[in-house]
Amino acid sequence: MTINTLLNHLLKYAEKNQILQPDDRDYAINQLLYLFSLQSFIPENIHEDLDFFQLLEALIDYAMKNKLISDDSESTCDNFEAKMMDSFLPRPSEMNRLFYQHYKDGPKVATDYFYHISQATNYIKTNRIKKNISYKYQGKYGSLDITINLSKPEKDPKTIALVNNNKTDNYPACALCMENVGFYGTSEKAARSNHRVISMTLNHEKNEWGFQYSPYSYYNEHCIILKKNHEPMRVDHNTFKELIDFINKFPHYLIGSNAGLPIVGGSILSHYHFQGGRFDFPIEKAKVLQHFKKRHVEVEILDWPLSVIRLTGNNEFNLLDMVIAIFESWKQYSNASLGIHSETTEKHNTITPIVKLKDGKYQFYIVLRNNLTTSERPYGLFHPRDEYFHIKKENIGLIEVMGLAVLPGRLKSELDLIKKCMIENLDFAQFPDLEKHLIWINEIKDKAMNEIDIDSFLKQEVGKVFELVLEDCGVFKAKDYKSFEHFVLKAIE
Ligand SMILES: [Zn+2]
Repeated sequence: MTINTLLNHLLKYAEKNQILQPDDRDYAINQLLYLFSLQSFIPENIHEDLDFFQLLEALIDYAMKNKLISDDSESTCDNFEAKMMDSFLPRPSEMNRLFYQHYKDGPKVATDYFYHISQATNYIKTNRIKKNISYKYQGKYGSLDITINLSKPEKDPKTIALVNNNKTDNYPACALCMENVGFYGTSEKAARSNHRVISMTLNHEKNEWGFQYSPYSYYNEHCIILKKNHEPMRVDHNTFKELIDFINKFPHYLIGSNAGLPIVGGSILSHYHFQGGRFDFPIEKAKVLQHFKKRHVEVEILDWPLSVIRLTGNNEFNLLDMVIAIFESWKQYSNASLGIHSETTEKHNTITPIVKLKDGKYQFYIVLRNNLTTSERPYGLFHPRDEYFHIKKENIGLIEVMGLAVLPGRLKSELDLIKKCMIENLDFAQFPDLEKHLIWINEIKDKAMNEIDIDSFLKQEVGKVFELVLEDCGVFKAKDYKSFEHFVLKAIE
């Protein structure tokens, strides 16, 4: 297929998916001609539909063969592809106008529209996300969602070599900064030519907020709400108001914030942001251990590996008062016999807050967190123990707290290798990749021998470790339930 035919296919795709308006057609063609170093374009009648991802591959292939891009690393190809798709996208201000035009027909109409655009331009990497392995684990707390993340590009040696030769400065300042919008991308900074952020007002801060989707969605319509200004993560009374305000504006979404402290926070502590989406998380189905009603708010203690209090009510101010009361009590709470110290040389208590509407009422989840480290537990007393690091080492953030594990992609090949060793009776110790799993393998291998389906057995065992990982992050363990209940009763007095 000639490059002219390929571009005709791309234009047909863009028109069909409504990312190209008739008035913008010539403009888009000329953007593409420049990008592909071509002098002219001949319209062709395209009858058959080409698969979009095959089409992208063919176009990138052409760019490579004609030396329009310097190498075949994933980042170089992604940068070129994003620029190609940007030929169709509205400018940021026009994107905002279109979003709010759709919003007049309802918040869901607006997010549906923006989500569609984000997918159709391959800003959201749908074909890579499909590679993820997702399954459910049935455990003590009901079902947990497990995802082995194979979609996010792992830095290959080629990319690392490029990074070393190419010391970039600090622009964009971080992955969440507004200055990413339209950024071409480098070997280490993501392609953002096709990136758009919708301006938002939260908690009376006019247009000081941005809304975007995550390119590597961990769940349906995984979005990020960020402060336009680059300022550090925090959890305070304003955070709660901001979260509730978002739910008032987008009642079909859930939203939550990572804690603002290291160890118990997410991976980006430098830029204030929330994560949202349209998804039902396992935590919502948790059993209720205890139920109270105070000042028109229902207060529930949930049967969950972490210490979770759920508040339900239809008056946001009553709810907010109760959230603040519990948050302030928790910040001061210490219990030496449980290892909970609110303060040493610094403050250790915070919460992971999550809000969703359920049957027209606000549901506010307060997850109690503490980031104290001790000499025995240098990674954190309420952090996964190092014996579980072979499955999950990273901080347990908002998404995990809600019962969705995002596990490293290496696990797929490692589990395959464990299975192969079990079936062929090979020595696990001869494989360096399995070294970190050896103790765990010894614990489970006898049981595995009696299993017909080793794959699903191993997946369930991984789920079991994730459940233990979450329990490690709980500040009140199951045996300390009385102390937990006592804390809640005092806090809501
Ligand atoms: Zn930033």
